[in-house]
Formats: sequence, structure tokens, C-alpha cells
Amino acid sequence: MKTIADLEAANLAPLDSGLSRVADKYAIGITPSVLELIDRDDPNDPIARQFVPTLDELVTTPDERADPIGDLTHSPVEGIVHRYPDRVLLKAVHVCPVYCRFCFRREMVGPQGLGTLSGAQLDAAIGYIAAHSEIWEVILTGGDPLVLSPRRLRDLMERLAGIAHVKIVRFHTRVPVVEPERIDADMVAALRASGKVTYLAVHANHPRELTAAARAGFELLMAGGIALISQSVLLKGVNDDVDTLAALMRGFVENRIRPYYLHHPDLAPGTGHFRVSIAEGQALVSALRGRISGLCQPIYVLDIPGGYGKADIGAAAISGQDGCFTVRDWQGGEHDYREG
Ligand code: SF4
Repeated sequence: MKTIADLEAANLAPLDSGLSRVADKYAIGITPSVLELIDRDDPNDPIARQFVPTLDELVTTPDERADPIGDLTHSPVEGIVHRYPDRVLLKAVHVCPVYCRFCFRREMVGPQGLGTLSGAQLDAAIGYIAAHSEIWEVILTGGDPLVLSPRRLRDLMERLAGIAHVKIVRFHTRVPVVEPERIDADMVAALRASGKVTYLAVHANHPRELTAAARAGFELLMAGGIALISQSVLLKGVNDDVDTLAALMRGFVENRIRPYYLHHPDLAPGTGHFRVSIAEGQALVSALRGRISGLCQPIYVLDIPGGYGKADIGAAAISGQDGCFTVRDWQGGEHDYREG
């Protein structure tokens, strides 16, 4: 489902809604699996909210920016973002199976986006990784790298396998949740490379996304030796309440997916209707701490606009100096702590 006409035909958008102005700017993509998850009887359905465009996307604020996390500031060659010394992003493709309405790279992904790296560009990107011995980890993101065929992924992994200093390859993907049928034995084998450890960060924002089909994909990935971690975005009207977040994080852990990042929403254009305040986010992660197991705690992070990297913005539980501190417990109670 890629057009406003598709949405109208599926009763996901009223006729003459004016949404074509949104579609002119930002790609639309809803897979059959996502369509099945949408509750059409709920006008505030958290699944629909993530994928069905709205006129709110035409509202922009002065602080929003086309490249909110500063990818372009740290891109030495096309497709590479080298922000931290020991790791790079490799953005081989800027296409996704779905187009999230809150996407932080919405100006780069989609049919009008940056496309797929050409053979020469991919050679240059791999050459950059090979030439920088400090690169320990390669993070495949995009776009969604799992839209590439197993053949192309296998080829990419074989090339990374030939670079001795790269030890870890990490994929960031929505595919196991939004297009789970792509996760089969061929795909799993393509994500492995001799001598490398593969991690896969599953992007999901609501517990209903962890369907039986998604779970079957997670099992295949883990049986294939791939370690799973999570990433989610804190989104108003989707998961900005403690019950939903707790169910999501527990859902990850019950599927042997280690909760990793809970992103504060980025300043991407036309996404103000998804943003919560940082104070609200901190209150939510504090409430999670008191409520669910330590295994289920994500790191609440903000990508500092301009490309300065991630900062852990969970409220500090300790303050003080000269060996005398006040420590806050999960219920907000304050306690003195003196260094012995
Ligand atoms: S899958 Fe990721 S890159 Fe693609 S639209 Fe969603 S958030 Fe953006």
C-alpha cells in the first residue's frame, strides 16, 4: 500500500482528505502484516498512528531539520556515517518496507530519497571501512537493510568478513515485525559472516507488533546464531504510557530480545504531533524502573541535533559532591549516601 488511493480503498483515509500534499513530501508504505494489525474501529489506534499519514505532517516548527541527527556532517564517503571512533553506519539502501510517519530520516528515505548505493559507491564505502583499522563495528541501517535480497546481503557480509578489524555487524530493521515472511533460512544465513558476530536490532514501538509471525522470525534468527536487541521510539499516542511501555519491554524480553534503546523522538520535519517532553519521558522511564525487571530496562537516549551523538537522558538518580550524595529510589524517595 503506497498511495493515497490505496489508503482510500482500504478505508484508512477519507476521500478528498488533502493527504496528497503529505504524499508529495513523504513516502507511504504499509505492508499486509501491518494492515492486518490496524484496528479500524479505533480512531486512535497506535498502529495506524505510526503508518497512516495525517495532515499534522504538514505542520513544521523552526527547530525541526531535514537531517536531525547530523548524518551528513559525519559522512566521509557516500553511505558511511562515521560519528564515533570505533563504529560506522553503512547505509546501503534508503528504501523501507513501511514508512513510519515519525521517521528521523524521512527526508532521505523512500522513492524520492537517496536511493541505493551504486556498485562503485559500495566499493568506496567498503574501502573506507577496510582502510580504518579503528572500526570494530559496522551498523547496517538506512532505510532498512533487510529489504535487500539474501544474495546481496550475503555478498555484503562476505566483503565485511574479509576485513579483519571488523568484529561485529549490527543490522537495524523493521522487517521481522512488518514483513516477517522475509525472515527465512536463506535470509538468516545471509546475515552471518565467518569470524563476525551478528547483532540485529528489532525496531518495534507497541506490544501488538510482536505477533506470532514476528515471534517465529525471532526464533529463526536466534537459532541461526544472531543476537537480538531492541530499539523503540517514545511516541505520543503510541507508547507514551507506562502500561504500554512495560508490556513492550516485557514482550521483548519474553522473546529473548534484550531491550536496548528507547529513543526520544528526533526533530524531524512534520513530526511534532509525536513528540513528548523530556520531562514526560524521564517520568516514564523512572516509572518503568520501579515496575518491571531490570532485564526490561531500555536506555532512554536523545540524539543530540547536529550530529553530536547519543546522550543518556534518563533522569539522574544521584546528585551531590565531595563524597556526600542524595540518591533517589524508584518511588521518588531520597536517601543520603556517604562514600566510606
Ligand atoms: S523503517 Fe526506519 S528508516 Fe524506514 S521509515 Fe521507519 S524509521 Fe524510517
